[in-house]
Amino acid sequence: MQMNEPKTLDRARILPWLLEDYESRLGELWQRADDVRRLNVGDAVHLRGLIEISNICARLCWYCGIRAGNAKITRYRMTENEIMHCARQAVSFGYGTVVLQSGEDYGIGTDWLAGVVSRIKAETPLAVTLSLGERPDADLLAWRKAGADRYLLRFETSDPELYATIHPDLPGKRSDRFAILRRLHELGYEVGSGVMIGIPGQTYDTLARDIEMFSILELDMIGVGPYIPHPDTPLARQPGSPQRQVPATEEMTYKVLALARLARPRANIPSTTALATINLEQGRELGLARGANVLMPNLTPVKYRALYEIYPAKACIRETAGQCHCCLRQRIESIGRTVGTGRGDARTQEPAGRQVRTIQE
Ligand code: SAH
Repeated sequence: MQMNEPKTLDRARILPWLLEDYESRLGELWQRADDVRRLNVGDAVHLRGLIEISNICARLCWYCGIRAGNAKITRYRMTENEIMHCARQAVSFGYGTVVLQSGEDYGIGTDWLAGVVSRIKAETPLAVTLSLGERPDADLLAWRKAGADRYLLRFETSDPELYATIHPDLPGKRSDRFAILRRLHELGYEVGSGVMIGIPGQTYDTLARDIEMFSILELDMIGVGPYIPHPDTPLARQPGSPQRQVPATEEMTYKVLALARLARPRANIPSTTALATINLEQGRELGLARGANVLMPNLTPVKYRALYEIYPAKACIRETAGQCHCCLRQRIESIGRTVGTGRGDARTQEPAGRQVRTIQE
């Protein structure tokens, strides 16, 4: 091992932090995460414009409000022109990236989406991130060829039994998100993943293992947020684990955010909408102060926003793109950080020799 190479943050070192409740000790964790963030990715907060392009979904995930089984929501899929309008808005607001997210919607055809991606790349300077679920290899390849830069696919939990329960397979096709994440790396995408915090059945041990996986998977982007029960889903009626159930709290989310920063010092880590949903006043800012360096303002047209209800009472559901933009910009400046310019690529893949900077323990 080279002198400067960071030690992997292993489970044994993560677990005590997850169990820690002394405020002064937690203050040290927040401080350390903030220092590591500043040293490695600086004070810029990158803005990723989120476009929720479809709420149609083939899957039956127990946690998610847009699961196929939910007959209560009206389904939509945005048109190419609507998506392009949002992309142009992203440019006018100075964002460097758009994130196209949806349910696992096979009505989003390989070639159609490839066309949308190439248009965004040809007509704007934006980086394009996709978050469209577990699509076949041929799709991932075609979209990469069309110019997509990054892909987000959370593994949700590293406990295989819990995962199999809350994320049922499609008929005849085993869900293996770890294999897809490896494949995305090979295809040259910047790769993002993450977990929900406080899933019923999630123990401290598995959450520690989840965080260890962030380093093992060499993630460029890490998204974590509290699990928020949706009343029209089976998981909302599921009891917690009898052994040390992880609470879906704000504090636990900050712990995981801070540990994610220590695990991957140079990754791009958002302060997520789910966190803002459980603390509307301060969640985003506290996330940024405890390890995060990215915000994801919503660009989805207002008429579709409320329909992309993966969990209830989602923050910013009624705001327009312009309102989200102004609000987030002010929040960034209020805590003495700067708004990032450019694409804000992850710096985790820079040539060997660039050392990752960690804080000595
Ligand atoms: N269909 C895509 C995008 C899903 S939405 C996919 O499966 O990758 C993005 C993320 O929202 C999910 O990965 C999940 O971690 C999170 N999410 C879904 N339902 C949630 C809930 N009830 N509470 C908190 N987060 C949730």
